[in-house]
Amino acid sequence: MATNKTEEQQQQSQAGRHQEVGHKSLLQSDALYQYILETSVYPREPEPMKELREITAKHPWNLMTTSADEGQFLNMLLKLINAKNTMEIGVYTGYSLLATALAVPDHGKILAMDINRENYELGLPVIQKAGVAHKIDFKEGPAMPVLDELVQDVKFFTNPNPPFFLFFFCLILNGKIEWQEKNHGSFDFIFVDADKDNYLNYHKRLIELVKVGGLIGYDNTLWNGSVVAPPDAPLRKYVRYYRDFVLELNKALAVDPRIEICMLPVGDGITLCRRLK
Ligand code: SAM
Ligand code: CA
Repeated sequence: MATNKTEEQQQQSQAGRHQEVGHKSLLQSDALYQYILETSVYPREPEPMKELREITAKHPWNLMTTSADEGQFLNMLLKLINAKNTMEIGVYTGYSLLATALAVPDHGKILAMDINRENYELGLPVIQKAGVAHKIDFKEGPAMPVLDELVQDVKFFTNPNPPFFLFFFCLILNGKIEWQEKNHGSFDFIFVDADKDNYLNYHKRLIELVKVGGLIGYDNTLWNGSVVAPPDAPLRKYVRYYRDFVLELNKALAVDPRIEICMLPVGDGITLCRRLK
């Protein structure tokens, strides 16, 4: 009798597992996840983040947003590492961006990139009201060309400011090399939450841009649990498509000697990479 009850309970807990795309945790039960949210996340969620979460919930693509528990985690992590200069690839309506903006100091900076400005502008009024918009430099468009510019520092050469005499003056004073590498090792924290098929290409550039001892966080590295799904598992088309890229990324990060890593089952999985050299 007791054994039957246990089996029944097991079946129930299996049925309650997060199997649908959109669940924000890989925990074994909805109830446990709900417990975390209600006990320690929602009661401590800053009012602007709550407001932004509620606005985002009404948006048709709300599946993409960062979960409240992951937002809380990012916010604390940024404070712990005393992050000042940060970057975010993949903004959507800005929940993780706001978590970052609230964590960095008043003179802190966030270079935020997304191909879609409209969604960012949905959350922008809340970010402005929270008094942290001045920390954000939003760039609309694909992130890769911006990263290439940062790595090569071609921005300086295409920018008419500072004036040419100053340009040559600086060249003489500091030497060309210093200018070319001004963005190298300059970021304390980088959050990557965009096109999963580009994560490894981003990594090639980001490893140059993050400082030694700084962090890159790759989001969705458990990809809705599909990283362990059998080959014939019924996966949604986009989950199946990106899964191979996520698997490839996870393998590459695990053997990259330039970083140490920690894969956390927060949200849909976030892999923290700390640059070693
Ligand atoms: N971090 C966001 C949040 O907290 O709500 C969620 C980001 S959402 C999962 C992914 C975002 O990446 C989308 O807004 C999408 O427009 C953006 N994106 C997709 N491809 C991109 C690219 N090549 N460069 C920059 N952003 C991109
Ligand atoms: Ca994500």
